[in-house]
Amino acid sequence: MLIPIPVLNDNYIWLYGRENLSVIVIDPAETVQLFAYFQQQNLQPEAVLLTHYHDDHTAGVAAFKQRYPNVPIFGSAETQSKGATHIVAEGEIRTTNYRIQALPTGGHTAQHLSFVVDGHLFCGDCLFSAGCGRVFTGDYHQAFESLQRLKALPDDTLVCPAHEYTLGNLRFAEAVMPENARIKAYMNEVENRRAQNRPSVPTLLSFEKQINPFLQAADENEFIRLRQAKDNF
Ligand SMILES: [Zn+2]
Repeated sequence: MLIPIPVLNDNYIWLYGRENLSVIVIDPAETVQLFAYFQQQNLQPEAVLLTHYHDDHTAGVAAFKQRYPNVPIFGSAETQSKGATHIVAEGEIRTTNYRIQALPTGGHTAQHLSFVVDGHLFCGDCLFSAGCGRVFTGDYHQAFESLQRLKALPDDTLVCPAHEYTLGNLRFAEAVMPENARIKAYMNEVENRRAQNRPSVPTLLSFEKQINPFLQAADENEFIRLRQAKDNF
């Protein structure tokens, strides 16, 4: 089971679980819709993963802890003040049913983490479909290195970002890669999906490598140029 619950303006809370098992919750931005979904689908949470400390990824943590005081909440040191109970920097996290790989992917924030579970990549605000996160409290060097780390994952990795930013990202991608025919086709597809209120994600890493300008940046300088151009697009 892989479910994006749309919350706030354009955030997704991701749920992942293998059949009949309790589920992992990534970035609980709120809990009203999350708990309603648990109840409706009769789900039990097994762990929470926090990609970074921003409120639109962590604002539900306090209410979550009240209802599920024994469910571990994993995040980097920057998420401790937001309620993380288990601080991780990188490496394997084991829960009852899952093995989760925590990857340091700073840049958007300095201690941003991404998580891989059974070939699903939960990359928060590091990588988006056709785009990447803005550099806030991290730096460009980190952000570029983080994208190289994610790019090195297997091609069939399912990318599950924390925002529905795909259409805006595609407009920029088209402007900087006008010769790329896949972008136009994908834009039509995403427009149709969004018109039906369906999410544009998850997306395949192999596909992102073809259409995401930030994954195609040859070096850090090119990445910085692209990222700054996108900030002003
Ligand atoms: Zn953020």
